[in-house]
Amino acid sequence: MTRILVDCPRCGGLAVITLDVDEGTEAIGWAVPRHHGARRAVCTACAFSRRQGWRSWARPTMGLPLRLRGTGRQGLLAAYNEDHLAYIEAYVRDPLRREAGAPGGFRNASIASRLPRWVKAAHNRAEVLKLIARMRSRLA
Ligand SMILES: [Zn+2]
Repeated sequence: MTRILVDCPRCGGLAVITLDVDEGTEAIGWAVPRHHGARRAVCTACAFSRRQGWRSWARPTMGLPLRLRGTGRQGLLAAYNEDHLAYIEAYVRDPLRREAGAPGGFRNASIASRLPRWVKAAHNRAEVLKLIARMRSRLA
């Protein structure tokens, strides 16, 4: 995940985490896998900015809550970014396309396999789509 949307810890607005150049890594002189790489969180609404070095690879969200999250009657649903949410929505709308190409470059079928069972259940479709719409409204 090279773009993760989280809540700004200062103002509660939308903050974006992206991979960052890590001078320390370059000084060491060996390649660090991207998901272990340095990250930076920048708020879109205030001046908040925070950097995390490459050693903190175990915290891809930098300890901040995911922006795209929502609680349905049966549990919590969360997405890393708009593309991830679009993938989940496409899956819920049309389960027959689950193994086909997905929007936003998410071709990994394992994303679907990690979705909670209640999200994938056909009889929950209308409720889950409403939940996804509520999650998407948090982008504003
Ligand atoms: Zn902020």
